[in-house]
Amino acid sequence: MGAIIMLSTTSMLLRLKNSYPQFLFKEDTDFFWSSSDNTIFYDASSKDLPVLILHELSHALLGHNKYDSDIQLISMERQAWEYTIKLAYSFNIKIPDEIIQSNLDSYRSWLYCRSTCPKCQSIGLQVKAKTYHCLACNHSWQVNEARKCNLRRYNQKNN
Ligand SMILES: [Zn+2]
Ligand SMILES: [Zn+2]
Repeated sequence: MGAIIMLSTTSMLLRLKNSYPQFLFKEDTDFFWSSSDNTIFYDASSKDLPVLILHELSHALLGHNKYDSDIQLISMERQAWEYTIKLAYSFNIKIPDEIIQSNLDSYRSWLYCRSTCPKCQSIGLQVKAKTYHCLACNHSWQVNEARKCNLRRYNQKNN
């Protein structure tokens, strides 16, 4: 973990705002990119702000707006991390592999949770944005119906 060269949050933000004037940067309680607001939201209390803000910037630069399926969301996530690694070089930031792995793992368990048939535990097929269908038992379910599948993203706060 010691390999991150910490830029101060202020200088990092200033550099981002100057380099990417096409986007807005706004403080919030978490990191996310909103294409409708054209805004990258960031959590100033995060101890991994440099990495996580570059990650959301990657979504923005890659034009990630919407997704049609859960699998597509996960592939966008993977692309964004590859891009984050490239961006990080220019900021002299080394991204700890555990951040990427823990983030991708949380997406994988989220997908597993949503796609598991509540009746027979087989893996179903996504047939609509929020609907899965099980080929084994013919059951269909809404993703938020049977259980809560929270997407817990990596964000550790400073105390
Ligand atoms: Zn992401
Ligand atoms: Zn089933």
